This record gives sequence, C-alpha cells and structure tokens, in this order.
Amino acid sequence: MLKWLLVIAVVVVVVLLMKSAARRGELPKEKAREAKVEDMVRCQVCGVNLPRSEAILSRGRFYCGEEHRRQNEA
Ligand SMILES: [Zn+2]
Repeated sequence: MLKWLLVIAVVVVVVLLMKSAARRGELPKEKAREAKVEDMVRCQVCGVNLPRSEAILSRGRFYCGEEHRRQNEA
C-alpha cells in the first residue's frame, strides 16, 4: 500500500512539473506577440503603420521614411 502511495505521489509531482514547464513555455511566446504588436508605430505625415525598427525616429516622432521626416520638420 505504501508503495502505491509513493507511485501516485511521484506521478502527481511529475504532472505538476510538466504543467508548470508548459506554462513557462507559453508565457514568453505571449509576451513576444504583445511586443510585436506594440512595436508598430505610425508615420506622422501619412499615418501609415510600420514596425518601429523600420521607422525613423526624430524629435520623439516616427516617420515612414526620410522624406516624410524632412517634410514634417521643414
Ligand atoms: Zn509617411
């Protein structure tokens, strides 16, 4: 009887560990998706949405290209 209790205890621990590992595996993916959505910025001139990495940042404003940056700051 004690042997069975040990087996059940081990199974429960393994299941809990797997669940927590799965949860840990999901979270970064969710965060990455959110970060991608937040990473979109809007051009001050034409209003187009583009990834922040492709946008030009000048004086705290984003632009889709050098041309629009100059246009807005001229
Ligand atoms: Zn633009």
